[in-house]
Amino acid sequence: MKKTVIIGGGVAGLSAAVHLLRKGIKPLILESTKKAGGRTTSFFDPDFNSYLDNGQHILMGCYKETLSLYTQNQIDENFHLQKSLRIIYSEKKRFELHAPEYFYPLNLAIALFRYKPLSFIDAVAAGIFMKRVFLNLVKNPSGKNVLVWLKEHGQNNKLITYLWEPLIIGAMNTTPEKADAAIFKRIIKEIFFTSNFSTTIIIPKHDLLTSLILPLLDTIISAGGQISYSAQVTKLIKSDRGFDILLKDGQVVNSESIIMAVPGHALEKIELPEKLHSENTRGLTYSTILSVHLKVREFHLKEDFVGFHNSPVHWVFNKGSYLSVVISDADDYKENDDKEILNLIISELLKNDIIVDNNVLSYRIIKEKRATFVPDCNSLRYRASSKTLSPGIYLAGDWTDTGLPATIEGAALSGRIAADAIYEQFNQPNT
Ligand SMILES: Cc1cc2nc3c(=O)[nH]c(=O)nc-3n(C[C@H](O)[C@H](O)[C@H](O)COP(=O)(O)OP(=O)(O)OC[C@H]3O[C@@H](n4cnc5c(N)ncnc54)[C@H](O)[C@@H]3O)c2cc1C
Repeated sequence: MKKTVIIGGGVAGLSAAVHLLRKGIKPLILESTKKAGGRTTSFFDPDFNSYLDNGQHILMGCYKETLSLYTQNQIDENFHLQKSLRIIYSEKKRFELHAPEYFYPLNLAIALFRYKPLSFIDAVAAGIFMKRVFLNLVKNPSGKNVLVWLKEHGQNNKLITYLWEPLIIGAMNTTPEKADAAIFKRIIKEIFFTSNFSTTIIIPKHDLLTSLILPLLDTIISAGGQISYSAQVTKLIKSDRGFDILLKDGQVVNSESIIMAVPGHALEKIELPEKLHSENTRGLTYSTILSVHLKVREFHLKEDFVGFHNSPVHWVFNKGSYLSVVISDADDYKENDDKEILNLIISELLKNDIIVDNNVLSYRIIKEKRATFVPDCNSLRYRASSKTLSPGIYLAGDWTDTGLPATIEGAALSGRIAADAIYEQFNQPNT
């Protein structure tokens, strides 16, 4: 049997493995750390006496590539589905963006007209714009940022602040001024206009390792795939059998084909036999996500999560016994110390009546400094395709040119594309 190695055991690598196995190819995954998951991960925290996520992740019904990796049983066991679109924004008083479950796509218009911050005229302007996107009447906005594009299409400041910005920050981890409009247009289409299920918000029931990663590992191992941990790849050399893959500890693994499912910045550190694509990935820039897990004496949050307006805090998730607070696009807080960040979070939670005093029992602050690449207009140049200039080497990862932002769905899609390309290579008549 032809041998395939996947370098990197994040969602992209695991997705590639699942798809290869479905085609009868049994891959070996080489993962540099001691666990799979990459940026979709959790760790045990003794103060909380539970597993904490490196940052809350949410999925959506439009994550069809991701959902296709799981069996229905795994979905039922591991995810909580919020069937109708329901997002609560707080500014002391709550605004609810809530689309009823039925009458798709009219239910989206109902959500706009019920959404309190918008006037009737605002809702009409948003509705007309969405309808034009739905009917493909909006030209491809290549090279434009989202702010310019939305304004060109009659979206005023209120619509941008209350409707579009939370979606841009949440899905793209950057601001409307930086975000690329072509990627955002794709997001609007995927979320709102694929099917009624697309707007469903999917929240992991457990920590990320348990809900998202372990089920994939189960599937992979039980189908005959393998994963090797603490296996950091440093160099690839061409050989008559394909490639020799050199590991940091001196071991050598050989393979006929390779999927490199590592982030762009990690790819730059691996010595390669030749250039893989015309641009290097150094032009990609990255953005921080700051997460604070907080155990307090008492908190008041009925919902699974709320978004904040006019606040440095973007989302607060109700984790049952504690809160998880998320600041996206958080480069401004990269250098702040824990005390400053904690004080900021406490004051925002107090202002929004989520907590009543500053009685913190435990907290954990996580700064993921390269949480996502910034999907700005420049990023398109540096996002490589799965097929490379070096036959036998394929790329995967949320940063590759899937057209999606850095998300689990982008990673899952990239893994499938790379697996398809390998299958095609193995099934060419002369191989
Ligand atoms: C805090 C945070 C919150 C997020 N929230 C969301 C969300 O709500 N929804 C959403 O869809 N997405 C979210 N994301 C984005 C999502 O986590 C990523 O897009 C996805 O996990 C990327 O997967 P990947 O496989 O492409 O890369 P990675 O997860 O980075 O995986 C790459 C793997 O390669 C390994 N590796 C690197 N170098 C080597 C080497 N030399 N040899 C061997 N192995 C190597 C790494 O250890 C890692 O395991 C969030 C990310 C963060 C950090």
